Amino acid sequence: MSDDATRLRPGEVPTTRRAYSLEFFPPRTPEGVEKLRAARRQLAQLGPAFCSVTFGAGGSTREGTLETVLEIRAEGVPAAPHISCIGSTRANLADVLAQYRTHGIRHLVALRGDMPSGTFDAGEFRHANELVAFIREVSGDWFHIDVAAYPEMHPQAGSPQADLANFKRKVDAGADSAITQYFFNADAYFRFVDDCDAMGVRIPIVPGIMPIASASKLGRFSDACGAEIPRWIRRRLEGYGDDVASIRAFGLDVVTDLCAKLIARGAPGLHFYTLNQASLTSTIWQRLGLRG
Ligand SMILES: Cc1cc2nc3c(=O)[nH]c(=O)nc-3n(C[C@H](O)[C@H](O)[C@H](O)COP(=O)(O)OP(=O)(O)OC[C@H]3O[C@@H](n4cnc5c(N)ncnc54)[C@H](O)[C@@H]3O)c2cc1C
Repeated sequence: MSDDATRLRPGEVPTTRRAYSLEFFPPRTPEGVEKLRAARRQLAQLGPAFCSVTFGAGGSTREGTLETVLEIRAEGVPAAPHISCIGSTRANLADVLAQYRTHGIRHLVALRGDMPSGTFDAGEFRHANELVAFIREVSGDWFHIDVAAYPEMHPQAGSPQADLANFKRKVDAGADSAITQYFFNADAYFRFVDDCDAMGVRIPIVPGIMPIASASKLGRFSDACGAEIPRWIRRRLEGYGDDVASIRAFGLDVVTDLCAKLIARGAPGLHFYTLNQASLTSTIWQRLGLRG
């Protein structure tokens, strides 16, 4: 853990230290691999601080995550695999961490992961704080560890207060920084950061940003992850029907405004959920005049 990470107050991070990053998922078909390469070529020109690659989401495998991370790194961009613990044993995860160390990977996004439906073996970990503690136990300070944060509350949490306390457990276990679930309400983010500050949690909490490409997909994702789409945005999107161009134009305005507010009020960076598409993220980045 770096001293900087524990000393920084989220609202006080100077502009020069802001980190703008991108997230991809590992493609599962040869066409998907080519599409992602093309998207990365375009996005690499923005100079992202790093790219992270999801694990498990949509059935992706750990091999797919590692392959994608190594490709990104070979292109000269720092890359971080996501690692999740649900359904894993200590022995499995120790192997994965050793493999990552062998490849010189030094940055992880550590998550519990989502439970598959039906019966399944939950493994030896219940929550992400246990994963963070395990990574520190077997790897010391080798990895910079990002964890997930939920300004609008994780959907399974009993209350916002319980969720905050659980977020603190991850930081106490050794997380260096956090990336949030996406949201469209900047006040929810700043309230969350203030509440963390009041609990003595002062790691950088980077807002996760979801560009709006499709009303139906956004609705599905948001239902699943508990992100709230404000009524006025939902109604506007519904009003556009199948008019994809208007949805994208409206979405670009809304998300660019949100990002501008977050930066102006001191967010320590932005992490874009690209969904492996370059154009919306790239347009927002350019409109904001971000420098990598
Ligand atoms: C930035 C980001 C990246 C993601 N990447 C992936 C990915 O690559 N693959 C994937 O499958 N999913 C991914 N997810 C989704 C994530 O796995 C889910 O949101 C999951 O449901 C929770 O993961 P978590 O790490 O936040 O879990 P946790 O921090 O364990 O929290 C999960 C729930 O348990 C509660 N809780 C936490 N600790 C305790 C405790 N000690 N005791 C009691 N209750 C507790 C929390 O309040 C919360 O309700 C990502 C999410 C984010 C925000």
